Amino acid sequence: MPSPTLFQSADLSRRMLSTTYTKTATISLHIIDYYSSKVYTTTSPITGYVSINTAKDTNFDTLHVELLGVARTRVDGVRSPTKIYQTFLKLSMPIRESSYPDNHIFEAGHSYTIPFHFVIPNHLIINACNHSTFTGAIIDEHLCLPPSTGIWDRDDLSPNMAQVEYSITSRVIRDHQVSGKQTPIMKAVQCIHVLPAFAEQPPLNITKTDRLYTMSKTTTLRKHALSSKLGTLKVSATQPAAVMISADGHAASTTSTLLDLTYEPVSNQAAQPRLTEVSCKLVTKTFYSAEGIATLPNLGDWVGPYGAEGQGSYANNTRLSSMPVCNFQWRHNSTPQGLDNSEYASNIGTDLENCGGSGTGLRRVWDNAPPVYYTGNLQIPIKLPVDKKMFLPTFHCCIASRVYILSLTVSVAVARSSSTVTLQVPLQVGVVLSTENEDRTEPPSFEVTSEEAVAGSDPGPRTLQIPEDEFDHDALPAYRDVVL
Ligand SMILES: [Zn+2]
Repeated sequence: MPSPTLFQSADLSRRMLSTTYTKTATISLHIIDYYSSKVYTTTSPITGYVSINTAKDTNFDTLHVELLGVARTRVDGVRSPTKIYQTFLKLSMPIRESSYPDNHIFEAGHSYTIPFHFVIPNHLIINACNHSTFTGAIIDEHLCLPPSTGIWDRDDLSPNMAQVEYSITSRVIRDHQVSGKQTPIMKAVQCIHVLPAFAEQPPLNITKTDRLYTMSKTTTLRKHALSSKLGTLKVSATQPAAVMISADGHAASTTSTLLDLTYEPVSNQAAQPRLTEVSCKLVTKTFYSAEGIATLPNLGDWVGPYGAEGQGSYANNTRLSSMPVCNFQWRHNSTPQGLDNSEYASNIGTDLENCGGSGTGLRRVWDNAPPVYYTGNLQIPIKLPVDKKMFLPTFHCCIASRVYILSLTVSVAVARSSSTVTLQVPLQVGVVLSTENEDRTEPPSFEVTSEEAVAGSDPGPRTLQIPEDEFDHDALPAYRDVVL
């Protein structure tokens, strides 16, 4: 048993601390149906009670029971690390004045229980994002609850520089007689796992300025490095449908991306390349900032202009698959449908120049027969190893973001040489909305809570009972202040 201490540090409290005690007082948090790996999602109820026992009469002024959501970032700059935190969620359990014990004194030898009931909300209130942003769409993103980080039973690929923590926190407060300064004299913290629902969003509108992604790439194929061109291979990818994680984080849907390939040989006699392998890895990217982020950091050139000062990112690679390609067939196209004829002619002209000839020879080939090009498709299945790692949903909160990139490498062989093309495609990870809580219409009863507290206690407990008419399952407890 640890040595008695009244106030635990934040780091220690992360480790599932539910009870703090001194030689004269004990405050405990009890969450009904709680276990260490319990996962709360959107609309999940969190019901329980705070238990307080004192060995001597203890004066206090107020008691707070809160559901807190806090994001923390640390940015290592040139001068010194910058650490900030944002309390993006603060739900306070309302406690009526009439519910407090007489004279606000916890009497020695008595047990007190304070029931609480929270519901994980769908969204944050508008004040949770109060910094400047470029568009309203960014604010909408920032008003989604981010997932917990760093406390899962599997690696969630989160760096220490960006952490999100949810907790039930209870504090007994005493006001200073003169200054009015509030001092917590008892405190208990219980961290909880929160995995909010994230619906699938429309595909990103990716442009050439979005450096993180490469949706299409063209490469020149040659017999060997110093030889003339054999042709041009273009590989493009579609954005896959989102991978949807179950509400407990232990299952995931599969998805796939479609690769479109086009090969333009410099002559009708050139051999088509042979696809040999497609490998796929998942790049997990976490962005973090020492101030409110005004844009989506995965678009544009977010990190570049700012360098290490005030912003940063952390990447982690997960190998997904490496598949040999066995049954790929090129489709022969004798008329360049869908191709830009002028561009095509231009390419041929460039090829001829590179060959160092007058171009008449190859031109004669095209003149005698219509130009050909080849197309093909490959469907690449995507399955995340959720049994080995915890894949948090794609999210953007005010000071941190998580995105995923599929890195797809297509290997081809032509003549005696080989070549690769790598694309970087966005992969969205969402979380399904649990239907488990839909049927909950009755407010929780706290009689059980009181009875549990009664058992074995002598004298009987004093319960700071919230009248049952205070509970409205459809209405969330009111938000109090939101601090940035
Ligand atoms: Zn914001």
